[in-house]
Amino acid sequence: MINVTKTFFPPIEEYNAQVARIWENQWLTNRGELIVELEQNLKEYLNISNITITNNGTIPLQIALKILGNQGEIITTPFSYVATSAAIVWENCTAVFVDIDPAHLTINETKIEAAITSKTTAILATHVFGNPCNIEAIEQIAAKHGLKVIYDAAHAFGIVYQGKSIFEYGDVSTCSFHATKLFHTGEGGAMFANDEKLRQQLYYSHNFGHNGPLDFHGLGINGKISELQAAMGLAVFPYMDEILKARKEVVDYYNSNLNLDRLQTMRIRENTEWNYSYYPVIFESEAQLLDVQKALNEQQIFPRRYFYPSLNTIDYVKGQKMPISEDIASRILCLPLYKGIEQVDLERIVGLVNEI
Ligand SMILES: *Cc1c(COP(=O)(O)O)cnc(C)c1O
Repeated sequence: MINVTKTFFPPIEEYNAQVARIWENQWLTNRGELIVELEQNLKEYLNISNITITNNGTIPLQIALKILGNQGEIITTPFSYVATSAAIVWENCTAVFVDIDPAHLTINETKIEAAITSKTTAILATHVFGNPCNIEAIEQIAAKHGLKVIYDAAHAFGIVYQGKSIFEYGDVSTCSFHATKLFHTGEGGAMFANDEKLRQQLYYSHNFGHNGPLDFHGLGINGKISELQAAMGLAVFPYMDEILKARKEVVDYYNSNLNLDRLQTMRIRENTEWNYSYYPVIFESEAQLLDVQKALNEQQIFPRRYFYPSLNTIDYVKGQKMPISEDIASRILCLPLYKGIEQVDLERIVGLVNEI
């Protein structure tokens, strides 16, 4: 069976060696040696100024929205994983959708200003499939209207935009280290902020607000990750270059063999070093997509309809029409993409898609 992605498993001896350190230390969570080391490794690898690793990629969105969203209106994209809008609603904020740019699939920055009201507090935009939003335009709009910017960068591990890690942009950026993501700790995530005061606030918030055993620095929740997950991260980490290289080869194969005259793909923003995290193709119609999906499923190949449905149609936020996002969501399919996918399987996938 071939799925849209396949979790990378490091050699078990290497994972066990990391786990053995936990037994030696007799320390299982609350920022032990392994998590601190993983943060250090990632800081160097990604060339970033700061990182706080969390227990998943949703809690940092919630923490950022709690601190910066202030129960106001949050301008957001309808084309993302459900966590993006769910976090807004969960934090008692209001999701105000702005339709997407059909070429880049990110929020359409030219439509943001029209959606701003006196209640707007922040913009939460997703670098969907790792494609950077129009960061310059969003920054300008946010500065002009006194809004905060949060980037859901769950798909954006390793991406460099304009010569800088994408995690360095926005008031807060977040990432997911879920098993289906490029770099993973099983479950996990991270948050990033350049402003030192805000970074500390995020950090305290992910540990109940603790500032020492008996002292509290504001309201907090439990966003901590355990040493067991850090052990997975440390075992996966040395393979990141290999994983990226293997994924690039698959993407190159799709690019040169799919009949791209009849399929739309995502236009990657200029000045981006992309991470080959997803291979979305947009068909001419939903019927065509369903035909392809059926043919692939019959061969035990399971691409995924990322992202369907358009988030503005989910019952707890519905009511705002987003024609471009709804249209693209109905026609987009992510093809299998992971390190280790066999050449014969790639040939079968491309053959079936091109045939239909
Ligand atoms: C995966 C994902 C998340 C959530 O991450 P978890 O680690 O699963 O909580 C958030 N936003 C987007 C866009 C995602 O794809």
